[in-house]
Order: sequence, then C-alpha cells, then structure tokens
Amino acid sequence: MSHLMNTYARLPVAFTRGEGVWLYDAQGKRYLDALAGVAVNALGHSHPKLVAALRDQVGKLIHTSNIYHIEAQEKLADKIAQLSGMDTVFFCNSGAEANEAAIKIARYYGHKKGIENPNIVVLEKSFHGRTLATLSATGSRKVQAGFEPLVSGFVRVPFDDLEAVRRVAASNKNVVAILAELVQGEGGVCVCGSGYLKGLREICDANGWLLMLDEVQTGIGRTGTMFGFQHYGVTPDVMTLAKGLGGGVPIGACVAKGTAASLFQPGSHGSTFGGNILASTAGLTTLDIVETEHLCQNATAMGEHIRASLKRTLAETPGVKEIRGQGLLIGIELDRPCGELVKTGLDAGLLINVTADNVVRLVPPLIISRAEADQLVNELTPLIRSFLMKPAPAAA
Ligand SMILES: *Cc1c(COP(=O)(O)O)cnc(C)c1O
Repeated sequence: MSHLMNTYARLPVAFTRGEGVWLYDAQGKRYLDALAGVAVNALGHSHPKLVAALRDQVGKLIHTSNIYHIEAQEKLADKIAQLSGMDTVFFCNSGAEANEAAIKIARYYGHKKGIENPNIVVLEKSFHGRTLATLSATGSRKVQAGFEPLVSGFVRVPFDDLEAVRRVAASNKNVVAILAELVQGEGGVCVCGSGYLKGLREICDANGWLLMLDEVQTGIGRTGTMFGFQHYGVTPDVMTLAKGLGGGVPIGACVAKGTAASLFQPGSHGSTFGGNILASTAGLTTLDIVETEHLCQNATAMGEHIRASLKRTLAETPGVKEIRGQGLLIGIELDRPCGELVKTGLDAGLLINVTADNVVRLVPPLIISRAEADQLVNELTPLIRSFLMKPAPAAA
C-alpha cells in the first residue's frame, strides 16, 4: 500500500531527467512536455542559466529567515515592481498562499474603511487554490464539496459579465474588492473580452474596491506579456503570482499598488519560507531569462502558430468545438469529456492535460521552438482525431 495520501490519480510514469521541452523516464523514453508541470516550468527543464544560479546559491545559503534582510528577495521585489508598475510584494510559496494574502489585504482594507463584514466579488468557474479561503473563492462545487462550512464573504458573478458586477455594486455596500482571472486556466482556458478589465477598473474606482487579479497561471510571460493585465492597459491594485515565477522552484507572490501596498504591518501577515534566498534567486534568474531570451515574444509567436496550425489540422474534424487561448495558454474544446486523451498522449510520448472535463489544455514551456511546436501539433492532431472518431460508449 502506498503511504501517500490519495490526492492525485497519478499516471503510471516517473521522470528522471529533462532538457528543454523534453522529459525522460527511467527507461529512456522521451516525452514532449506540453504541460510544463502545469504552467510552472516556463524555462523548460534544466535551463543552464537557472541550474548554474541555483547550484551556486545552494552552495552558499538556502534559507535564513524573514527576521533578517534577504538581498535576493529585495531585488526580486524591485524587479517585479519595475516590470508591473506596482509598488510592493509579499512573498510566499504557492498560488493559494498568494491568494490568501490578497484576500487578507482586501479584508484589512475593508475593516480600515469601517466595513465590519467585507465581501469580495469572485467569478463562476474560477480557480484560486485549495486552502479553505481560496477554495471558498473558487467557482467550482467539485473543489468545495465536503469541506463546508466555507469561508464566508464571497459574492459570485458570471465570468466576463460587467453588468452582473455593476448589479452587485448597486446592491451590496459591503463589497471591498473583486478577485478575477483574465484567462480562466482551470476553468477551461476561457479568455475575457477585450473591454472586461477596463470595465472592472471603472467599477472598482467608482466604488472604492480593490481590483485584484489572480495571475498565478497567466503571469510570467505565459500569455505573451509579462503579466496578463498588460494586454489591456489597466493596472490592478493587487496581483498574485506563483506557477512560472521560480522556473520550478516553489515561490508565490502577492503584489500590490497604492493603498493596498502599505496596509500590512509587522504582525499582519507572514511566511516562514516565503521569499527565502533559494526561491528568490530562482525568481530573479527566471525573470532575467524571460527578458533576455525574449520569451514573452516567443510565447506570443508560438501560441499564435500552434493555434493557427491546430485550426488547420483539425478543421475537418467534427467534435472540435473551439481552439482558443492567449499566448502559450491554449485550450481545445471538444464536444465530449476527453480525460482519456491524457493517457493516450502519455503512451505516444506527449504530455498534455485536460481541464473542465472537455478542454485539452496546452501550456508548454515558453522556450518552445517552432520545430517543437510543429511536432506538438503533428503528434496531437491524430490523437484528437482518432479519439473523436471512436464510437461513443453505449449509454449506461
Ligand atoms: C494553480 C492556480 C492556483 C493555485 O496555485 P497552488 O500553487 O497550487 O496553490 C491559484 N490560482 C490559479 C489561477 C491557478 O492556476
């Protein structure tokens, strides 16, 4: 019997090494990694510059404490502030923790305004994490069921629907913030409309709410800009980061601007590991590589190339409903649940993911080349075609 808690339905494979977009198992079989540790390995595997920086750091120090100054953490905060146009950063170790910090900032902000029972607007089909507050904010009953009582104080509206947000603003004076994803990654790679963020900014400004964006999946070049909000010319008050930020080393960040940037004081919040020297070095090196290797531009170009290619190769395939996405966050929506494609992909040496039951999600490393992108399309196309041509299982 395994001594692991049964929290993941694991596939029958373990990898022993990786290089670029490739992973290898113990038998030496090679896999094209179009999942990148679920949008984590932005630089692919074993990027030589990241490996060198981490090796060097491990030989000096791994961890001290936030009781002391950590130069790499301060530099990383400066870098994130410079790249985002925002002011301050709190470092933690995961996306859920980054969102916990955002939720605490929103509540603190409300209490400072004299609102005893502050509410946060959240969206249907959103995903914010698995801790109690973040699963309560998440718009999925599957994530919440069995863990009630949920954390209160969340008001839910449909995604990409400004009218619904305006209705809440008109009727609920306890709202202090909205927490949103601009591309709902776990929710099925749904991209918001071009006017959505600007509309949210206006509603937030008119009502004194904080505009908080969960960029845990969309941040760090994934959508073709360093941060997803940069497509829309609007800056949030709070942004959360994690997945891609450390190039595979666990790190999360809650970034804030204006009033939200200076609410926390010593004692308000903390994290033992958050922003330690190793994680901060990983973050600094990752951002440096994303910039110097022009990976945002590559994400834009390769994302467009993959989507255009798939639209061509799957054009005549009935059952493909939509091919969509932004940068290298790509979804292929089918007309039926397609979880088994993950296993057929694995057998064929292709690592993909299925989310929202019927959406194939591709989040390859941002370093993917055109030849590798073509290979991805050429291997994925027949898998999807033959899956859709199979007769549907007889209804039970
Ligand atoms: C993955 C994800 C999270 C949760 O991150 P963890 O590191 O697993 O806690 C939160 N929000 C979004 C948008 C995510 O994609």
